[in-house]
Amino acid sequence: MKRKKVGLDASKKAVRAQLSGEGLRPKKGLGQNFLTDESVLCDIVEAAQLTEDSCVLEIGPGMGALTRHLAQRAKKVVAVEIDTAILPVLEKNLTGFSNVTVINRDILKLQLEDLFSECFGKEQVKVIANLPYYITTPIIMKLLAEKRLSSIVIMIQREVAERLAAGPGTKNYGALSLAVQYRAQVRPVRDVSPEAFHPVPKVWSSVIALSLLKEPPVAVLDEAHFFHLIHGAFSQRRKTFINSAGSYPPLCSSKEHIKSVLQKLGISENIRGESLSLEQFAQISNEMVRGKL
Ligand code: SAM
Repeated sequence: MKRKKVGLDASKKAVRAQLSGEGLRPKKGLGQNFLTDESVLCDIVEAAQLTEDSCVLEIGPGMGALTRHLAQRAKKVVAVEIDTAILPVLEKNLTGFSNVTVINRDILKLQLEDLFSECFGKEQVKVIANLPYYITTPIIMKLLAEKRLSSIVIMIQREVAERLAAGPGTKNYGALSLAVQYRAQVRPVRDVSPEAFHPVPKVWSSVIALSLLKEPPVAVLDEAHFFHLIHGAFSQRRKTFINSAGSYPPLCSSKEHIKSVLQKLGISENIRGESLSLEQFAQISNEMVRGKL
């Protein structure tokens, strides 16, 4: 399929020339690896399934390569960028797009619900981003807590993408896999070579799509307890589930109590957290919570 170019040139040469023309260098500390591969930009936009009614939050627009694609397809794009120095370049590259609002803030310090109401009224929102990798996990956790999101399409480190999609019994399975799969359906879109960026990062990346679920796939009586149990189970990976969760202070539970719950549910007392499914975590948590009522 022939790829359509969206206005400006996002090639490595053009990105380098524009940055040096403005006296700027990519800031490593802010995870500034700019996408320079048009095919990856197109695949991200395609995965997001935008329509002319879509409301989009982009995190870290940088020089605007992805923003321009989003603005072409969506009704409205709000782009949150922390780096004040890059804003003149971004504004220049967004000339002619009247449906983009740039907000110069740190995404982790923003109240997203307030931002959504102010910018999008009551509409559902899609998040699309090439994330700054130094804060991938906190951003994902923040987004998962938002009720207003319908989908998230993000580029992240390939190693983190593998953790999000991992199932029980695999080496990548952990607290992050469970937290994400409790809220969303995970769909890997594609891997991306380091060569697709300027500057070239050390690691491969992946684009993944998360469809936010209306209801979690398992019934949980007390979500705070459920997440403490998950974090407790993986807090000491080499130990059994009982020993790891039983010595995790926020859970406030003895090893004897956890052992009796496993016995009741017919689960081996030697099991490790990495072998327990989302359903089993929910069952164990619910049984422990019932025991405390
Ligand atoms: N979207 C651009 C692209 O694909 O070429 C840039 C992506 S670059 C990987 C990440 C961007 O996130 C950078 O522009 C960086 O300045 C911005 N950023 C880093 N930390 C941020 C934060 N806490 N809040 C908002 N933006 C941030």
